Amino acid sequence: MKKLTCLLLLASFAAHADDADYAAARAAMVAEVQLYARMTGDIEFSEPVLAAMQAVQRHSLVPASQMPFAYENRPLPIGHGQTISQPYIVALMTELASPDDDDVILEVGTGSGYQAAILGELVEHVYTIEIIEALAERATEKLAGLGYDNVTTKLGDGYYGWEAHAPYDAIVVTAAASHVPPPLIEQLKPGGRMIIPVGGRFMTQLLLLLEKTERGEIISRQIAAVRFVPLTGEH
Ligand code: SAM
Repeated sequence: MKKLTCLLLLASFAAHADDADYAAARAAMVAEVQLYARMTGDIEFSEPVLAAMQAVQRHSLVPASQMPFAYENRPLPIGHGQTISQPYIVALMTELASPDDDDVILEVGTGSGYQAAILGELVEHVYTIEIIEALAERATEKLAGLGYDNVTTKLGDGYYGWEAHAPYDAIVVTAAASHVPPPLIEQLKPGGRMIIPVGGRFMTQLLLLLEKTERGEIISRQIAAVRFVPLTGEH
């Protein structure tokens, strides 16, 4: 009975919450993300990244059943066994990408489109690849509906990157790979950054920040232990 009451209350919030309610919930989420960063000491967030986190309507990108939870600092299911990442991790990966106004960024793993929208607030263009057709279609439609005309989506295997628009100022991979895909290293600009979780499904995964020097060398830093769904595909 209690569970039913709770579900009814949540359904009622989803039906009646207006833009002001969502903006307030988003502000609380951003404050929590900042607090979490201070506690972990992982990073200090810049104003533009915090502003992007405040701007993007996470509730519009999750399935309707998840809307009441959209501004909780945790991953949520988006169907097809996949998740929208935790807001803190999205902010962390965005900050590590050091986004600039005129950057062109590749994202691997569109999922809900949330990370792409955050990047879309900050850079000139985002190219994003999703391997599951239904998710690619849903994200394309939602991102267009929200006006992100600087985000281009594609159905495909992101292991191979998106050669046509390379090289990229930054590459953000949002599924865990067993190794860093060589095509992505090739498609990174000298001076560019790649953020990628590396590790198996049941192993500790590490979020890596790779930097390609002007001479083409790769410098790798371990940032944090993370848990992502696996990078799938034929490779
Ligand atoms: N960035 C997403 C967001 O903001 O909602 C979250 C991504 S979810 C953690 C990982 C996504 O990567 C899933 O949607 C999954 O289908 C996708 N994926 C897994 N392997 C992939 C591959 N080889 N190429 C492209 N997408 C892939």
